Amino acid sequence: MTKNIIVLLILLQQFLFADSQTKIIDMHIHSYTDSDFGDREPASDHYGKKSSSNAASHRAETFAAFKKWNIVKAIVSGNPESVETWAANDSNDRVIKGILIFSPHDYGLDSVKFEQMIKDKKIEVFGEIGAYYRGTTLSDSIWQPYLRICEKYDIPVAVHTGGGDPGGTYSWSPKARLKFGDPYLIEDVLIKYPKLRIYLMHAGGEDWPEHALRLMAYYPQLYTDLAVMLWVEPNTQRYITEFLKNAKHAGYLNKVMFGSDQMVWPYAIEKSIIFLNNLTFLTEQDKEDIFYNNAARFLRLEE
Ligand SMILES: [Zn+2]
Repeated sequence: MTKNIIVLLILLQQFLFADSQTKIIDMHIHSYTDSDFGDREPASDHYGKKSSSNAASHRAETFAAFKKWNIVKAIVSGNPESVETWAANDSNDRVIKGILIFSPHDYGLDSVKFEQMIKDKKIEVFGEIGAYYRGTTLSDSIWQPYLRICEKYDIPVAVHTGGGDPGGTYSWSPKARLKFGDPYLIEDVLIKYPKLRIYLMHAGGEDWPEHALRLMAYYPQLYTDLAVMLWVEPNTQRYITEFLKNAKHAGYLNKVMFGSDQMVWPYAIEKSIIFLNNLTFLTEQDKEDIFYNNAARFLRLEE
């Protein structure tokens, strides 16, 4: 009986919280078609939670979370067909079109086709770039034609930092090495394209939070998201809590943006929001900045 009352109170609190939740921009959402749904993720997450059953239900569940939690914009990256499907089904103008890319020639792309996709507004943010998973870095020559185009059209760039899924190197990403997740490996990009809008994904992960923070200090144009770290494992939550404390202490919280990286588990969006909301060392203003204001500035939504 008492247990039931507690459960009810928790549900009530979550309901009220959702209702009053400040606007959110999710800088890190993944889309799929059935052709690649679940290819890179295990059937259950660290906590044993099962994934959505297919690409369509995954999209519906993610859209429901957008509505429930007042997520007004989301950077959606996946294969180009999935991103188009999401945009076509998005009646609330929430989807900002990204592209999930591991190697420059994924999806038969080259720089000419890439530039055309940008002109056609099929790519509004370049990323998530998972160079890490194929053993390259954004500073490598193979990525430079794409970055020059992003600079020319003022397209924001989103780059994976930190490690990947445990065991990934033994399965779908044999060239992935933890060392390739070091944010310092994009330093040459920041120097070559000083006007490029670029953000780190995962804030350097468990591996390189100090390098992420230092790079953001040294290159003030650099932002980061908090994606995956807020929910995927207790260990990432521990690292991201430290990162946020350090970013606040150092005065760089104004370049930190919310992201969930829900992958095939839409419930992770809610879990990430609740985790961030429960960090008591962040003020209400800090949270509003992380959830919305910093991303709105980075994306120049107000213009
Ligand atoms: Zn991601």
